[in-house]
Amino acid sequence: MIEVKAFAAYDAETPLRPFEFERKDLAPHQIQIEILFSGVCHSDIHTARSEWGGANYPVVPGHEIVGRIVNVGSEVTAFKVGELAGVGCFVDSCRHCASCKEGEEQYCEEGMTGTYNSFERGTDIPTYGGYSTSISVDEKYALHISDNLDLAGVAPLLCAGITTYSPLRHLNVGKGHKVAVLGLGGLGHMAVKFAASFGAEVTMLSTSPSKEADAKKLGAHNFALTTDPEVMASLANSFDFIVNTISAKHEYDTYLNLLNKNGTMIVLGVPEIPSVAPAMSLIWKRRSIMGSLIGGIKETQEMLDYCAEHNITSDVEVINMQYINEAYDRMEKSDVKYRFVIDMASMKN
Ligand code: NAP
Ligand code: ZN
Ligand code: ZN
Repeated sequence: MIEVKAFAAYDAETPLRPFEFERKDLAPHQIQIEILFSGVCHSDIHTARSEWGGANYPVVPGHEIVGRIVNVGSEVTAFKVGELAGVGCFVDSCRHCASCKEGEEQYCEEGMTGTYNSFERGTDIPTYGGYSTSISVDEKYALHISDNLDLAGVAPLLCAGITTYSPLRHLNVGKGHKVAVLGLGGLGHMAVKFAASFGAEVTMLSTSPSKEADAKKLGAHNFALTTDPEVMASLANSFDFIVNTISAKHEYDTYLNLLNKNGTMIVLGVPEIPSVAPAMSLIWKRRSIMGSLIGGIKETQEMLDYCAEHNITSDVEVINMQYINEAYDRMEKSDVKYRFVIDMASMKN
């Protein structure tokens, strides 16, 4: 057994605190990763606080994981001890349904196995995520990480990165498109970087006036304050796409009018209270609302390789594990620049 130190949510109300558990000895196809950095996604908060229901406590969140391989199973072929590796939002899937065969394991018809708050396939052994010192994963569900980028800035690519990269690629977003990104947090800042990198004209739509300068530094060409009714009126029918990353309760109708004819709102944020899709705002300009869930292993590797080639990382505030509850409180207030990443060396303190 592998002894692991972690931080866990024990219930929906109390702060996260230390938790120790054991991971099973390595299976032949698994690699063991000593976790170096773990990003903090808003989904961690939704889950830890059971805002989506169904939390199996204790929950060890964390699905933006990078670290170094310290051991490999006897049948591992794609990874070696000493290399860097990453783990994202899932660690397994059925491997035989149409989605799995297409490399879109996130849409597995039998349900993917989440990196945390899930159960190892066919067992009642809970999965525990990246707020921990070590993780073991089947090599088919691990990612190769290039060593030419800042590792702390790479961790958020495993969720915030792929979640924004995937729909932009799916829709062939690029030159000639006008893209609005709604909400400047972890997902939002990666959406700005990718949309700008793909050649689109990017407008940041934010409730936070203080984020304007940063939005421009991240690559946004324009910035608009969504709390200003005159600004919102002036942007009617402006965009081909809106990437909606809002984590809190909101109405789609506030923003749909900003889409032009045939425009699409890409819904990524999953607030505790669902939004309503209003028919009128959709039908008058043949607008669409679509959703998108992270990305498959193949596309995640493609995204990581793209980032290594184009020198793209997340803008991070590196924190100690012990700061996690303050980090959650700050994220609830939209006070994040633009991803908290836990330095796992702090678990040795
Ligand atoms: P985050 O870093 O906390 O950023 C969320 C941003 O939303 C805030 O910084 C804020 O930006 C904006 N916002 C917050 N409350 C708002 C409100 N009431 N009205 C308007 N805007 C508001 O969160 P994240 O980690 O990027 O995650 C965002 C959402 O995506 C979460 O719900 C998460 O669970 C979900 N998610 C989905 C997927 C997927 O596969 N679809 C993957 C990962 C995460 P401004 O200050 O600029 O307004
Ligand atoms: Zn996430
Ligand atoms: Zn499947």
